Amino acid sequence: MNRRIFLGLTTALAILPLSAFAQDRLPVVASFSILGDMVAEVGGDRVSVTTLVGPDGDAHVYSPTPADAQTVAAAKAVFVNGMGFEGWLDRLIEASEYAGPVVVASEGVKALEMANDDHAGHDHGAIDPHAWQSTDNAKIYVSNIAAALIAADPAGEEVYSTNAVAYLAELSGLDAEIQAAMIALPENRRSVVTSHDAFGYYAAAYGMTFHAPEGLSTESEVSAADVAALITQMKAEAIPAVFMENITDSRLLEQITAETGAKIGGTLFSDALSPEGGPASTYLNMMRHNTTTLTTALAE
Ligand SMILES: [Zn+2]
Repeated sequence: MNRRIFLGLTTALAILPLSAFAQDRLPVVASFSILGDMVAEVGGDRVSVTTLVGPDGDAHVYSPTPADAQTVAAAKAVFVNGMGFEGWLDRLIEASEYAGPVVVASEGVKALEMANDDHAGHDHGAIDPHAWQSTDNAKIYVSNIAAALIAADPAGEEVYSTNAVAYLAELSGLDAEIQAAMIALPENRRSVVTSHDAFGYYAAAYGMTFHAPEGLSTESEVSAADVAALITQMKAEAIPAVFMENITDSRLLEQITAETGAKIGGTLFSDALSPEGGPASTYLNMMRHNTTTLTTALAE
């Protein structure tokens, strides 16, 4: 072999693993699984996402661990939902002595307030934090995520922008899918019950009504009066189905179905994804699963 070509080859081979090593992934943290998936979609191969509240976990009532503080301390960016969703976050940031950016993914979303309070015990005028439950809001999250990743890792701008554009197109497709699925539902089959009020943005975007014995957070206590009021309303409106949530106990809903004759329509994913291999292991799959579960149960 010509000596010059040989040297060129060995140099090229030597550079490959070195450059792969030098481009270590950007360590970032997301507070809960749905947001973690969005960050991973935009970050692609350039980032390593650690999620604090994992699949099927309840981020309303999470207790951070010492390991979480270490993870946050080592991060280059921390992504949170905001809107009061992660009440434990400030203490965690403080405990970790993390001084990097805390990115509020919902920044710019038009917040819904808990309106038309129809049972006792709900917080009047409380901000609904579950903004990810509409694809229009998810697009705002994605734009905020892309901007924050570019700020934290400017060399990756092209990758993050390209990934974000592709993901935004998927979200537009998803929105069209959900709208099309909902059109088929009759007006009198659009009112349902879930455990807690996690679907206000979905309801507003897709023309549904959700009732829940528990309010905007799973932290609140459900009183017997709340349950009785809900049962009365369900009978009056002939609400056909109740839906479990992956993050909450289902016993109360079972009691409500026993007293109203409404059926259990399936399980919706509200505040967390399913584990890998489950029906809602990504945001896109979660929204599809919820829509299919609702429309299938309500069409019957
Ligand atoms: Zn919630």
